[in-house]
Amino acid sequence: MTISILVVDDDLAIKDSTEEFLKMSGKNVQSAQSAEKAVEIMESFVPDIVLTDIMMDGMGGLELTKLIKKHFSAEVIVMTGYSADYSYEKAIDAGASDFIFKPFRFEELDLRIKRVIREIQLKKEHTSLVKKLEELAITDGLTQLYNSKHFFEHLKKEIERHNRYLHPLSLLMIDIDLFKNYNDKWGHLEGDKVLVTMGKVITSCLRTMDTAYRYGGEEFTIVLPETDLKKACLVGERIKKTLSHEKLHPQPNSEVSVTISIGATQLSNNDTLKSFVKRADMAMYKSKKGGRDMITSLDI
Ligand code: GH3
Ligand code: MG
Ligand code: MG
Repeated sequence: MTISILVVDDDLAIKDSTEEFLKMSGKNVQSAQSAEKAVEIMESFVPDIVLTDIMMDGMGGLELTKLIKKHFSAEVIVMTGYSADYSYEKAIDAGASDFIFKPFRFEELDLRIKRVIREIQLKKEHTSLVKKLEELAITDGLTQLYNSKHFFEHLKKEIERHNRYLHPLSLLMIDIDLFKNYNDKWGHLEGDKVLVTMGKVITSCLRTMDTAYRYGGEEFTIVLPETDLKKACLVGERIKKTLSHEKLHPQPNSEVSVTISIGATQLSNNDTLKSFVKRADMAMYKSKKGGRDMITSLDI
């Protein structure tokens, strides 16, 4: 990756020579003769590193460092020309990653920049690792849908949103029909493949704001914001239809399909999370009782 650096120094000779050196070593460089100009440049140029003088007319380098740390993600290396200005602690307190004395040898600057780049890479790796872990914690490993822990967290938020804006909110509860028989006949591993297929079918039928969850073993839920009961049933029908076209081959020369029972309901003003989920569950059981492979909606 090409590293972008912004050089800030009111000493033109130092600014220009540093800029030239950094450009020659393959960096994407811009420079400013004042902190104010640097801030202006950063509106359109996003540097990985800002290399700034401390003593400048107007805004000083430490103030600039604080501002950058507050509003941007760049790392800062401060440079200073006089030992009287030396204030390593202040620079680090302001958020600088490193400190360098002027006049410096370019080899030294190069080493310090390399160290800061390594720091940036480690931070990025850390951030992406944390993000992956967060995703893993709310994802069902088999179906790649969200897990039930996330279902309750998310549904709680959606109910709060509904209570504030009174937009419709619906819920689908889906259960695979006679799945025990499928497992018994074809084996648990083949049963797992059905669950994976279900994950894909459900995902393919949702809009971006809808979220789907593996609620239990072979049960799934779908949270549908901005959706009334009628529209929720249409989504359920779409899932049923898409699944009916999915042919499974648990053994060579065998072609089977599975069906699902669905319960649909819409949140009412008197609902709690518990009563809402319970009603979706009851609707689903009505579908089971009614003969399976169907969708039942329950109003309050
Ligand atoms: P119904 O139509 O009434 O829902 O019948 P059913 O057989 O689907 O329901 P039941 O609750 O009796 O059985 C659920 C089955 O789902 C039993 C269990 O082995 C299976 N199951 C649950 N989780 C998994 C899983 O992760 N993988 C596989 N392969 N099967 C699972
Ligand atoms: Mg079940
Ligand atoms: Mg079942």
